[in-house]
Amino acid sequence: MKIGCPKEIKPQEFRVGLTPAAVTEAVGRGHEVFVETGAGLGAGFTDADYAAAGADIAPDARSVFDAAAMIVKVKEPQAPERQMLREGQLLFTYLHLAPDPDQTRDLLGSGVTAIAYETVTDAPGGLPLLAPMSEVAGRLAPQVGSWALQKANGGRGVLLGGVPGVRPANVVIIGGGVVGTAAARVAVGMGANVTVMDRSISRLSYLDDIFMGRLTTQYSSAAATADLIGTADMVIGAVLIPGAAAPKLVTRAQLGTMQPGAVLVDVAIDQGGCFETSRPTTHQDPIYEVDGIVHYCVANMPGAVARTSTQALGNATLPFVLALADKGWRGAIQDDPHLRAGLSTHGGRLTSPPVGEALGLEA
Ligand code: NAD
Repeated sequence: MKIGCPKEIKPQEFRVGLTPAAVTEAVGRGHEVFVETGAGLGAGFTDADYAAAGADIAPDARSVFDAAAMIVKVKEPQAPERQMLREGQLLFTYLHLAPDPDQTRDLLGSGVTAIAYETVTDAPGGLPLLAPMSEVAGRLAPQVGSWALQKANGGRGVLLGGVPGVRPANVVIIGGGVVGTAAARVAVGMGANVTVMDRSISRLSYLDDIFMGRLTTQYSSAAATADLIGTADMVIGAVLIPGAAAPKLVTRAQLGTMQPGAVLVDVAIDQGGCFETSRPTTHQDPIYEVDGIVHYCVANMPGAVARTSTQALGNATLPFVLALADKGWRGAIQDDPHLRAGLSTHGGRLTSPPVGEALGLEA
C-alpha cells in the first residue's frame, strides 16, 4: 500500500504520524511510504533519517495526499488538509469529531474512510491509542508543577522532595487512572509526600499494591478533597468520566482554604477541567494565578515532549498501521473489532454512533 505522512500543520503541533522506525517496518513488508519534507523535524527526525528508513521524501503535503492510499497523521486534519482527502482514501489519526461539526461535514463531503485513534479499543476495555499520551501527560504533571512551585513562577517556593531535615511537598492527585498513576510514579520518585484519590476502590487497591506503602490512597469525596487541599503544595487533576465533561472537584471558594502559592495542575483540562477556576493555557503561556493559587492548564501537554510523545504514539499505532496496510481497511477491521471501533466515516456516511448522537446526525 502507498502510505503518506504529511507534516502536521496545527499550531504548536510538533509530533509526526510515523517515526523512521515505523517506516522501516512498513517498507520491509513491501509498502511504499511518502513523508513530507520536514515532517519529523519537530520530533527530531530529519529527512535523511526517513530516507535511510526507505521513505520517499515528498516536497509538499499535496504530493503526499495525492500519492497515498492511507494517510497517517497525529492531529485531526485541518481545513486545507481536508480539501485534499478523497473517496477511497483511508485516514488514520486523532479526530475528536464529536465537538467538531465543521470537520465532520468536510470528512463526510470528501468520502474518505476515517479511523479515529481515540476510539480504537483493546481487550481490557481501555483506549490503547490514548493511553500513551496519558502516560506522557501524567509523568509531566509533577515536573511542570514543581517548576510552577518555584518562587519566580508565583509558587510557594517549595522543593518537591525537600532536603534532609526539611519536609517534602504534599502532592494530591485526584484520579488514579493512567494519568494519575504516571503522575504518582514521578512525584514519588521526586521524593514528594503523595496522596492519590479515586472513586474506584479496585483502582485504589491496585495503587496500594504496586506502590507498597510509598504513597497514601484516599477514597475521593468532597469532604476528603476539602481536607487534603488545605495542606497540599500541589494538586494534580487527573479524573475522567468517559463521554462526560470533567466534574468540578475544587471550587473557587476553596482556593481561599489553600496555602498561598500552592499549584493546581489540571491535566483534565481537555475535558473542561476539574477545578472551577481552570481555563485552557498554552505552552507559551502555561500558568496564571487566581486568588494566590498558581494554575497550570495546558491542553496538549504531550506536545512539550514531542519526541518522546511521537515515539510513544508510534509504538501504539504501528500494529494497526501495518494491519491496515497489509489487509486494507475492510480486512483489518473484519479481523479486529477493536480497530473497527475506530471507524468514524466511510463513503460520506457517519459510522460512529456516539459522534452521531453528539452532532444530531444519523450514524
Ligand atoms: P483514566 O480513565 O485512566 O482515569 C481516570 C480516573 O478518574 C479513573 O480511575 C476514575 O475512577 C477516576 N475518577 C472519576 N471520577 C472521579 C472523582 N470524582 N474523583 C476521583 N477520581 C475520579 O483516564 P486518564 O487517561 O488517566 O485521563 C485523565 C484525564 O487526563 C482525562 O480527562 C484525559 O482527557 C486527560 N488528558 C489530558 C492531557 C493533556 O494534555 N492535558 C493528556 C492526556 C490525558
